[in-house]
Amino acid sequence: MTTKILKPSESAYDYPLLIKRILTSHQRTEQRNVIVSGEHRFSYAQLNERICRLANTLKQLGIGPGDTVAVMDWDSHRYLECFFAVPMLGAILHTVNIRLSPAQILYTMNHAEDDLVLVHDDFLPIVEGIKDQLETVRGFVQLSDDTTPVAPAFTTFGEYEQLLDQAEADYAFPDFDENSVATTFYTTGTTGNPKGVYFSHRQLVLHTLNMVNTLSTSSSEGPLLDHAGSYMPITPMFHVHAWGIPYAATMMGVKQVYPGRYEPNTLARLIREEGVTFSHCVPTILQMVLQSDQARDTDFSGWKVIIGGSALTSGLAEQSMALGIEPFSAYGMSETCPLLCITRMTSELSARPADEQAHWRVKAGQPSNLVDLEIWDPQGNPLPHDGVSTGEVVTRAPWLTQSYLNEPEKGDELWSGGWLHTGDIACIHPDGFVEIKDRIKDVIKTGGEWISSLELESLISTHPDVAAVAVIGIPDERWGERPSALIVPSSGNLTSAVLEQHLQQYVDSGRINKWAVPKTIKLADDIPKTSVGKIDKKLIRAQWS
Ligand code: AMP
Repeated sequence: MTTKILKPSESAYDYPLLIKRILTSHQRTEQRNVIVSGEHRFSYAQLNERICRLANTLKQLGIGPGDTVAVMDWDSHRYLECFFAVPMLGAILHTVNIRLSPAQILYTMNHAEDDLVLVHDDFLPIVEGIKDQLETVRGFVQLSDDTTPVAPAFTTFGEYEQLLDQAEADYAFPDFDENSVATTFYTTGTTGNPKGVYFSHRQLVLHTLNMVNTLSTSSSEGPLLDHAGSYMPITPMFHVHAWGIPYAATMMGVKQVYPGRYEPNTLARLIREEGVTFSHCVPTILQMVLQSDQARDTDFSGWKVIIGGSALTSGLAEQSMALGIEPFSAYGMSETCPLLCITRMTSELSARPADEQAHWRVKAGQPSNLVDLEIWDPQGNPLPHDGVSTGEVVTRAPWLTQSYLNEPEKGDELWSGGWLHTGDIACIHPDGFVEIKDRIKDVIKTGGEWISSLELESLISTHPDVAAVAVIGIPDERWGERPSALIVPSSGNLTSAVLEQHLQQYVDSGRINKWAVPKTIKLADDIPKTSVGKIDKKLIRAQWS
């Protein structure tokens, strides 16, 4: 028996899922000025027109299908316009991670074979330093927040706003194969060069549709974002397209606030002044916003925030809920576009007291629509969803990178056995909630036992004298490794003995074993962060030794 496949009629239109379809026709007449970025305020009608002007500009600069356009910018209206205009031309958008070292930026730009670079004033010195080693770049466009931009030290095609002013306001975007590559960007691992991931139009459209649905349905208390809401990303647009949420927010036609460079006081002020109701970020940024001076004058109640990229700790979940913030967790990675899992708050869970809710909100959520997610043992056998068995998270979904750019052998490793290997260890509870225990490379092995550094961080974070914490395994002759904690204290009272006493309750209740209690702690003013604001355990390990 085989499935029955009906041939489409010769005259039927084979509708490709292209990014241009995210710009729905009703937006073209929308006149409210709801795209906010620095001094700029635009309507959706203007956004559509500016996308056409950008496409005409790029075309005039020689950009066409298959070319790659790199962007080096803070989160801005320009970036949003590039999210659309570049792929809608059939070209590929390379969102450059501006927090990498100049040598890594150079590597990624040569590896991606960038043709044109759109560069903000703040990154002109970096480009100035590497431009003679750029192998494929044919020219530059300046992105400036100043009305009278200062001329760069090297030749450019001109300044973005001035080029857009001169361009035609209409563009008939063509149809093409929905499997064409739309975007690319790089992820940094523990060793070696950054690796490029890439996503097609079809993948991004499906991810967007799923994200719109997810934002509408993840809480019984009401949508995370709807037409009455206001969205501000706090995950950089260079990192996994700010989790793809600018595409979803645009399809929904909601107010969008682009905050430029992330400065905690500015973020708190924008939340207050622009009435932001929904954001997403890594935990460290949420912490910084809540600790900013402007936070004191800001009423955060009603602000819904998806935390991802690192585990939300119980301490931060409870602190934000006390301020009236509703925290959700999401799980994914650069390779997965990124959405894999998200917290789903049923009416039964929402009715529970805050500390009980936090217990669910800090888990990595449940697999999203169209996502297959399993845990495997090292031999590739699926493990039960019993909340106890732990194994590597493997996944399948329509929007996962199909390989690494120009590195097929690494792509084969990523997809070994036909499932994408995340490198994360987790258990899955019977109710479907996924609990990430650790990165495989960060898990602490002590005396034959495995200890989750994430769980320890979460438990330590609930002590009132702890502002931030990172736990790593330190080599130990007798035990293999022992957990050690780097802590930013919020008062002068924190010592190893105080922490031991705090953790003893979890040892007594059987939540952690006694070997999990860190024997050494170091106090610091700050926790080292990676280029995307996560705890940099590689650096902490190196510094500790
Ligand atoms: P990146 O590719 O830089 O976005 O990093 C992805 C990695 O971040 C994942 O493989 C996880 O290790 C980690 N991660 C993402 N979301 C979560 C989460 N909700 N809880 C714990 N770890 C997370």
